[in-house]
Amino acid sequence: MNFIETRGNDGQRPEKVSFSQAILSPISSFGGIYSPESLPDLGGDFLGRHLGSSYKTLAKSVLEAFEIDIDAATIDKALALYDEFDDPSNPVPVVKVLDDLYVSELYHGPTRAFKDMALQPFGIVLSSIAQKRNENYLILAATSGDTGPAALETFKNKANVRVACMYPVGGTSDVQRLQMVTEDAANLKVIGVKGDFDDTQNALKRLLASETFNKKLDEKNISLSAANSVNFGRIIFQTIYHIHSYLELVRQNAISLGEKVYLNVPSGNFGNALGGYYAMKMGLPVEKILIASNNNNILTQLITTGAYDLRTLSVVPTTSPAMDILKSSNIERILFDLFGEARTKELMRQLDTDKYYQLSNDELAQIQNIFAADYCNDDEGKAYIKNTFANGYLMDPHTATCFKAYETCRDKELKTIVYSTAEWTKFSPVIANALTGEIDTHDIDALKSIAKEANIEIPSMINELFDKEITQKSIIEKEAIEEEILSFL
Ligand SMILES: *Cc1c(COP(=O)(O)O)cnc(C)c1O
Repeated sequence: MNFIETRGNDGQRPEKVSFSQAILSPISSFGGIYSPESLPDLGGDFLGRHLGSSYKTLAKSVLEAFEIDIDAATIDKALALYDEFDDPSNPVPVVKVLDDLYVSELYHGPTRAFKDMALQPFGIVLSSIAQKRNENYLILAATSGDTGPAALETFKNKANVRVACMYPVGGTSDVQRLQMVTEDAANLKVIGVKGDFDDTQNALKRLLASETFNKKLDEKNISLSAANSVNFGRIIFQTIYHIHSYLELVRQNAISLGEKVYLNVPSGNFGNALGGYYAMKMGLPVEKILIASNNNNILTQLITTGAYDLRTLSVVPTTSPAMDILKSSNIERILFDLFGEARTKELMRQLDTDKYYQLSNDELAQIQNIFAADYCNDDEGKAYIKNTFANGYLMDPHTATCFKAYETCRDKELKTIVYSTAEWTKFSPVIANALTGEIDTHDIDALKSIAKEANIEIPSMINELFDKEITQKSIIEKEAIEEEILSFL
């Protein structure tokens, strides 16, 4: 399968690239990104054939259908990482929480957030391509908390790859920071930046585009790549768990094969939701995809009104920080898929220059045929956490945003799969506050009180963090980032 450019071709770059090229250099002509030229059709009997399949067997079949240029041994090695999840026989448990609401838990990997679902296998794939080509890559990452730990975890000690990961000092939870600053592999560099997440993200974009920086890397024989979800190497692994979760509902006799469901996704950069959209196009019986946001509700605005209007907005901090995003990168792939490259280029240019675009009525109708959306504020989220816990289920504040969309966006009584994107351990102060009213400034206190309240144990990989040696000590001004990275190389 080949990949084509969301904003059309500039006459300089190739018009089509292979999967491995698209993941090594994810940016295409005119600042666009790569999308699949066509999607595989899984075919009528695919789901039936995989009713008894393990997660890995299903994953292998889905990846085969994509016909990517990665050899079978590498795919096997990548998928073997799901064996390191809590329960190798069921890396993604699906749990019934309300009559029609099932939670698909995507957080049972090493860093306790759903970023592991894609970044774990992606690390193997990227490193293996780099080795085969005998090339060296620097992966830049800017993180507000979950991407950083997952990227470091997957690339540690991998050949031909180095990672420089920037986080805003004071902008992450204790657990997220400790997951990064206790990493000690020689190919990893973690940099605390005095500033906010936007400062680190802007620095990353500046470096990716900087000719002098790229030239200096060239001299060292290193190329740049990025591990955020504009990279299709992550998206491909995110189609699989939607299919798995559907099959799990069939296995639990919640639905019959072929019956439609709602997918309900807590969204930021729209990678998770895009995976669901592709799964639907590949033949998964989906009624609609419900998009949940927090007070940074640009996606609700887009899907309910057709306007993407950043003119008067700035990011507001919420209790679901991984969704504190206004420029949602993967919307571009939806625009491209529905409206084509010329229109996508036009809309993205308007967003760049005017901070605004408005879809036509016809375009909006096409979007609403597939998506519905609502947002959940922090108080509502807290109430969902508390009430759902009273019903016997503990969840994190990102997952909680879906419960609002579940109540307001369904017009049919169909079973609904809510995606849980983080374990309670990653956002413990918010959860402890919702459960008991306490205000903890340190994660360790909140973790202990939730563990007591829920009568569960703090997972060992979280508990151990508090005793590990801090090896990554760089804390710098944002002006010094480039120099810091070059001296690491
Ligand atoms: C990254 C993240 C999200 C948002 O996912 P997207 O694919 O960017 O929409 C939601 N919740 C958590 C906990 C995350 O880490």
